[in-house]
Amino acid sequence: MGPIAYLRARRRKRVIEKRPIPPDAWASAVAGLPVFSKLDSDEQARLKDLAAVFIDEKDFHPVQNAEIDYGTAVRIAALASLPVLNLGIDWYSDWKTIIVVPDAYEITRTETDAAGVVHEYEDELGGEVMHLGPVVLSLEDIADSGYGDGYNVVIHEAAHKIDGRDGVFDGCPPLPKTISAAEWRTAFSAAYERLRAPKRKKGRRKPRIDEYAAFSPDEFFAVAVESFFETPVALKRDFPTVYELLVRFFGQDPYERLSR
Ligand SMILES: [Zn+2]
Repeated sequence: MGPIAYLRARRRKRVIEKRPIPPDAWASAVAGLPVFSKLDSDEQARLKDLAAVFIDEKDFHPVQNAEIDYGTAVRIAALASLPVLNLGIDWYSDWKTIIVVPDAYEITRTETDAAGVVHEYEDELGGEVMHLGPVVLSLEDIADSGYGDGYNVVIHEAAHKIDGRDGVFDGCPPLPKTISAAEWRTAFSAAYERLRAPKRKKGRRKPRIDEYAAFSPDEFFAVAVESFFETPVALKRDFPTVYELLVRFFGQDPYERLSR
């Protein structure tokens, strides 16, 4: 461990000891949310410590009259810490700011089609990741996250940050030695192309994954991660190879957790 990593580890240990999340605040942040319900006591304890460090290291900036109380910060921290439960909070060390807006907001997107014609259209966002730093999250969308129905703006944006940790937002995060880039790209491209295919093979059921996943490879990855934690049964059924890669990448198996 280098000197910076040593100091960081020492500071985090102190945060966990001196400024832990109070038990009642933690209980109400995770209460009633299926994404947390099957974690065992060791996982709960580690998640709570990660969330305390997350709150210490991130700046929360409410804008447009949004108000953020401690309970909401703990909720965001708990949801964001779930994907890195076994990877470590260092995966988020390259960004600091969370901009909190009251509700979903509209942006104008432009897209150039195959003929070179530029199309403009309105899109509604519940959050987004700015490539050079901040994450934007809407309070309304945070409140809708974690219910096991496939929607989770915090995990979705966290997945983009994990993807872009190598500087490229392409649906392929920096991989551990046990997963080759070829294996990852083959599995994810096949799943993405299958989702985009205009015609489905006869008898094949429509994947449960959010349609937004078909937008681009990086959105496919973010939506797949969202589904991995929110609706693991559906993701494992629809995209088993992608599911297994995510188990190996995140070092956790939400499907297996459900059977506890
Ligand atoms: Zn996205």
